[in-house]
Amino acid sequence: MDEIISKQEKVLDDYGIYNEMEDAIEAAWLAQKELIKFNLDTRSKFIAEIRKACSENVELLSRMAYEETGMGRYEDKIKKNLLVINKTPGVEDLKSEVFSGDDGLTLIESSPYGVIGAITPTTNPSETVICNAIGMIAAGNAVVFSPHPSARKTSLQTVQIINKAIIIAGGPGNLVTTVKNPTLENAEIMMKHKKVNMLVATGGPGVVKAVLSSGKKAIGAGAGNPPAVVDETADIEKAAKDIIDGGSFDNNLPCIAEKEVIVVDAVADYLIFNMKKNNAFEIKDPSLIEKLEKLILNEKGYPHKDFIGKNADYILKKMGIDCAPEIRAIIVEVSKNHPFVQKELMMPVLPIVRVKDIHEAVQVAVEVEHGFKHTAIMHSKNVDHLTALAKEIQTTIFVKNGPSYAGIGVGGEGYTTFTIAGPTGEGLTSARTFTRKRRCVLVGGFSIK
Ligand code: NAD
Repeated sequence: MDEIISKQEKVLDDYGIYNEMEDAIEAAWLAQKELIKFNLDTRSKFIAEIRKACSENVELLSRMAYEETGMGRYEDKIKKNLLVINKTPGVEDLKSEVFSGDDGLTLIESSPYGVIGAITPTTNPSETVICNAIGMIAAGNAVVFSPHPSARKTSLQTVQIINKAIIIAGGPGNLVTTVKNPTLENAEIMMKHKKVNMLVATGGPGVVKAVLSSGKKAIGAGAGNPPAVVDETADIEKAAKDIIDGGSFDNNLPCIAEKEVIVVDAVADYLIFNMKKNNAFEIKDPSLIEKLEKLILNEKGYPHKDFIGKNADYILKKMGIDCAPEIRAIIVEVSKNHPFVQKELMMPVLPIVRVKDIHEAVQVAVEVEHGFKHTAIMHSKNVDHLTALAKEIQTTIFVKNGPSYAGIGVGGEGYTTFTIAGPTGEGLTSARTFTRKRRCVLVGGFSIK
């Protein structure tokens, strides 16, 4: 094994890490040519080795992301990494379609794009690299990553682990590459390079717009502001627990996490009571709410980066409030126009909006989701109410009676992804998303019906 690594090391520049973006792209381009010489069974073995190596390094990657970005919770990052390692679909996701009849046999096959340029966020740095790498390589591509500069070390380490794993499995080095210094300039070189055939952006609105303006095939996985709606028919004790569990997971960094709660008046007090029983700290005093606003929002009314992904007790301490260490979230009742509701805070501060009935709840949820069509959560036992929100809000993910993360395969059915492509419509991406459909026609044969 060591022999294989040292042999490959000669052709690798530090396991896929290059000084220049052009070199990273060229290396990935050559590696992809090698990859497609292997059969699907061997490709599956490469994916299995990626999963194994990332599992072995899950503590390292989670610790690095936590320390480097200063955001989230170490123990939740372990869960997020394990989720993508174990539940991102591999080669089995590639399905062929067939037409057969008097005129013969036609296959619709899924072919790789070639080299994919993937831009990844600071909120899930190793998770997105692992998830994209598994899906994109399973589909027969190589990937050049452009990670967020604030998560540089974690992202580069993940790229190296994946490269080493593929080499150990007997595959080509450089199926995933990146640059030592990820910058916007390097991202631009990648987006314009003629050997990059597809772009996949996971991040906020700016980067989605950038890839969509590139003139290349682009997949955009953009921002969300998921509302959690609770009506009078819900199991309120469970709804309260689910909302705190989902909304405080990794300190609210995931794009799918509950970002505001909309509850009908009849059950609002009981919901708040139960949220507090589940480690939420309520701030009621209007002057303290104002103090919190001044602390966590910047002059432009956007979340202050010093508080993004921080623990609830850290935020409270900065306000001079001591709380039990098990507190996971801060809850505040505000109006729907409050910036806590309107902005994607990405911290464990959950605003609660009280509404008179389900009609107003649906209206407010649609309004504060801002048409991102990303994720919505609802707690209700009334099918008509559930249907009403689903129809109006049109989100890519709609979780009913569970925490938001059930929508990406944790305690809910289905595979996982950390690239949820709402704006461009691919939905929860997987290997087949990263393929081109090709029609392969055999005239006159194999009609044996
Ligand atoms: P961000 O938009 O600041 O950065 C994301 C990536 O885009 C980074 O690598 C950054 O360097 C790059 N980037 C930003 N502007 C660019 C431009 N003009 N050209 C090229 N690259 C550019 O986001 P973030 O703070 O890292 O992540 C949080 C955001 O991402 C939140 O809005 C969250 O909702 C969203 N997100 C969405 C998904 C999804 O699957 N839809 C998943 C995770 C995060």
